[in-house]
Amino acid sequence: MKTIGVLTSGGDAPGMNAAIRAVVRSAIYHECKVYGILRGYEGLVNAKLKEMNLSSVADIIHRGGTILQTARCEDFKTEAGRKKALNVLEVFNIDGVIVIGGDGSMTGAVKLNEMGIPAIGIPGTIDNDLAYTDYTIGFDTAINTVVEAISKIRDTSSSHGRVNIVEVMGRHCGDIALYCGLAGGAESIVIPEIPHNIDEICRKIIRGKNRGKLHSLILLAEGAGNAMELAKIIEEKTSMETRATILGHIQRGGSPTATDRILASKLGARAVELLLGGKSNRAVGIKCNAIVDVDMKEALTIEKTLDMDTYNLASILSI
Ligand code: ADP
Repeated sequence: MKTIGVLTSGGDAPGMNAAIRAVVRSAIYHECKVYGILRGYEGLVNAKLKEMNLSSVADIIHRGGTILQTARCEDFKTEAGRKKALNVLEVFNIDGVIVIGGDGSMTGAVKLNEMGIPAIGIPGTIDNDLAYTDYTIGFDTAINTVVEAISKIRDTSSSHGRVNIVEVMGRHCGDIALYCGLAGGAESIVIPEIPHNIDEICRKIIRGKNRGKLHSLILLAEGAGNAMELAKIIEEKTSMETRATILGHIQRGGSPTATDRILASKLGARAVELLLGGKSNRAVGIKCNAIVDVDMKEALTIEKTLDMDTYNLASILSI
């Protein structure tokens, strides 16, 4: 293995830069040449690459976003697009590729392996929706951003005696809502994995009000419903003023937390070690605090399940 390529793909996540830095610096340490592929698979199909050196990744460990930029590339999903990518890899003499992204990006990396290009996947997504790893890069930063926002919403919510619904990202996965609900002391957590009972949510709000609670907070995952509609129903049923806040893309930005930087650094270094050790089709991750690597194709078939202990605990503590 003499030359490797690295790309970030799909939705961006804080900590992707720290992962790029780890890949580039580890590869150079092991005397490899590294190309940064721009805008995910788009750069691979259209030959948009730049050679990276130690300075290309200086001063980025603390920055959100990705210096390589990211994109969604429909071309790479086609046979013809992937042939173009293969040709580009040959022209640049790239022997292996490290893909930083979510499940879609890793599916693309599996295709690279099937075309004979060793590829390793690093989980970079705020959603934490990859079952083979306990955490993905960006999740910790995102939940800290949400918890900070919740604290601010709480202040104004209690001044006015309102119910507040905070809608967070996560696509089909409720992890952001669940963890932030627990950390933010939410009365109810509405997530796609568990059917919700609107009457029970309202009863809890009323119980809290009768006990002298100044406000109520509901964490809603984007995949579980619409914040505006839920606010309307709750207002009708409880007669309490109810507001909805959709946090949106603020959750994808910002300086990565120390936890995300450390995870990204470890995963980036492991990905390079695997490629240099002749491995392919591996996805790196963290399980029970240890860095692991697993078969990438198999990893993508594991169904993500909800952490029921955390869910039950949040329910008990918000009684
Ligand atoms: P994420 O990686 O955040 O889940 P997407 O699902 O949008 O994001 O996937 C990112 C990119 O990965 C896609 O735009 C495409 O270039 C590539 N990709 C996704 N699925 C496939 C597939 N089945 N075959 C080849 N490439 C894919």
